[in-house]
Amino acid sequence: MFCYQCSQTIPGGCRVHGVCGKDEDVASLQDILIFGLKGISAYNYHAKRLGFSDPEIDSFIAEALFTTLTNVNFDADRFIEYILKVGEVNIRAMELLDKAHTARFGFPEPMEVFTGTREGYGIVVTGHDLLDLYELLKQTEGKNINIYTHGELLPAHGYPELKKFRHLVGNWGGAWAKQKEEFDNFAGAILATTNCVLIPKESYRDRLFTCSVTGIKGVKHIKDTDFSELIKKALSLPKLKAKSGKKIMVGFHHRNILELADKLLLLIKNGKIRHFFLVGGCDTPGERGNYYREFVKLIPRDCIILTLACGKYRFNDLDFGDIEGIPRLIDLGQCNNAYSAIEIVRALAETLKTDSNNLPISLVLTWFEQKAVAILLSLLYLNIKRIFLGPVAPEFISSGVFSVLKDKFDIRLITEPEQDLKTILK
Ligand code: SF4
Repeated sequence: MFCYQCSQTIPGGCRVHGVCGKDEDVASLQDILIFGLKGISAYNYHAKRLGFSDPEIDSFIAEALFTTLTNVNFDADRFIEYILKVGEVNIRAMELLDKAHTARFGFPEPMEVFTGTREGYGIVVTGHDLLDLYELLKQTEGKNINIYTHGELLPAHGYPELKKFRHLVGNWGGAWAKQKEEFDNFAGAILATTNCVLIPKESYRDRLFTCSVTGIKGVKHIKDTDFSELIKKALSLPKLKAKSGKKIMVGFHHRNILELADKLLLLIKNGKIRHFFLVGGCDTPGERGNYYREFVKLIPRDCIILTLACGKYRFNDLDFGDIEGIPRLIDLGQCNNAYSAIEIVRALAETLKTDSNNLPISLVLTWFEQKAVAILLSLLYLNIKRIFLGPVAPEFISSGVFSVLKDKFDIRLITEPEQDLKTILK
């Protein structure tokens, strides 16, 4: 039997920590806590690299990790309080990262991004780290190499200090799960800056480089943001052929959405906008993820869809049109830009003098990754109810914990797109 205190399997169960290994709910809560902390640490790390830190976040991470060794483990109620605190601190971490990104790269501005490849040498950059992308853009200036974003770096195109580089030409590919196929089909060099990079196929292993916290056995790792070897590699590879896909609109931030608050409120008042949906999160591979594409296709034309993180690649190639000049699909950016979604909900609730649960906004999220856990805990900390989650409940959530979340927050698992939409709009 596995003892979560001793972190090892003990035949017959642990005699010191008798409860360990026997209470699957406590074990599940501990897993949620640790996954949430990993999410906070990712945002905290990116912010620190950009020169922003918050001692309260650091001390909470230390304390929360320590609790996994102490008696809070035996008290499920206290543990639930603790995981909500993870959600609270995660909002601080996302806010800090937003400050760091906007201070360093400016506030995002809406723009259309070219997808595909241009003729010439190329490097595609995946992961989440805007600073690595910026450093690479600086080091490739004037070298006749086109730079492409992949996955969660798509929102980079909206930031003034990144889009000013004319050789940041577009986006290649979509969510992380398809990268083996996408990198195989990209003839240039590849840079992985953070998590969600897969063990590569042999066909592109020698063209792949990692940096910062990322590392893969047998793949060249770049230290201290010196990208000279990557640049050399890109120039030694055949030139890419021109290929174009559909343009994608990016560059929305709570600041530019809230500038439209009066117009949005008028459209709501006049019945032109009926409902807002936040559909996004970490894309989960597999057929079941098609739910999200089918769901957004069914959303009526008088509704706005907010999205973020790589779950959006399930549907961001679709044409949603606009409502009196306001795009029906608003891409808020990376998963950490859930902070923008939270700010929009807060501002609407404040203006309309109501509770966020009374707003005409529903959350339909895809999740499975550590950052998604941290964001979900933030939403629960804000007491946002009736969130639809999918494609499936993560295995680390025990049935006991799921039923507590269901009772306390009315969390639901997705069913069928038609049925869920009907329930939401009822
Ligand atoms: S949104 Fe989630 S799944 Fe997608 S790349 Fe980022 S961390 Fe990974």
